[in-house]
Amino acid sequence: MNLILLGPPGAGKGTQARRLQDGHGLIQLSTGDMLRAAVASGSDIGNQVKAIMERGELVSDDVMIAMIKDRIQEADCADGFILDGFPRTTAQAEALDEMLADMGRALDNVVEMRVDDLALVGRITGRYSCAKCGAGYHDDFQKPATEGVCDSCGSTEFSRRKDDNAETVTSRLEAYHAQTAPLLPYYDGKGVLAGVDGMAEIDEVTLQIEAVLGAG
Ligand code: AMP
Repeated sequence: MNLILLGPPGAGKGTQARRLQDGHGLIQLSTGDMLRAAVASGSDIGNQVKAIMERGELVSDDVMIAMIKDRIQEADCADGFILDGFPRTTAQAEALDEMLADMGRALDNVVEMRVDDLALVGRITGRYSCAKCGAGYHDDFQKPATEGVCDSCGSTEFSRRKDDNAETVTSRLEAYHAQTAPLLPYYDGKGVLAGVDGMAEIDEVTLQIEAVLGAG
């Protein structure tokens, strides 16, 4: 099964992708995570994209398309993947269609996670994750059971993304509406788009996505 989670920053794509990965044996492909790893490693690509990400703008289509093209050909993607953060432009979506056609594969579902813009700033500025296992938390909505200790792995180290601040969030939302939202009619036209209520509780959102996948 090949799936795209589509929605603005803070919609919960990463949280749901991790759940689906565990439940369905699919691989989560987060282009944001790949780029952050490139920045942390100090690679050429990482140095190229660091300032762009900090401004909340989109990295060029060429870089992103090459990155995902390499990744989906790896053996662990053979049974299916969940794209989280890609595609973000029409050019990326068209390139993905071409890559999949060349590989004899197709997209099964594109799930739009619908959320109110007003809720997103608070969701994003309060979020942090375990530095060791990546489990996600939030200052107000999702605290660890024991303060300062990760529920999943017991680590006491946490990190916050540099671009999860109020100014950058505004640019990221603008980029979403201008460049990524046009993908909704693009995929609707292909008959693969379904929407879920991203404002619902995390478990409820998972159930809604499962229902889409079951019906597909
Ligand atoms: P994310 O973790 O998905 O919110 O991505 C963090 C940042 O990485 C974005 O604000 C962009 O600067 C960059 N990025 C991630 N995926 C893409 C993509 N598919 N196209 C362009 N830029 C991307």
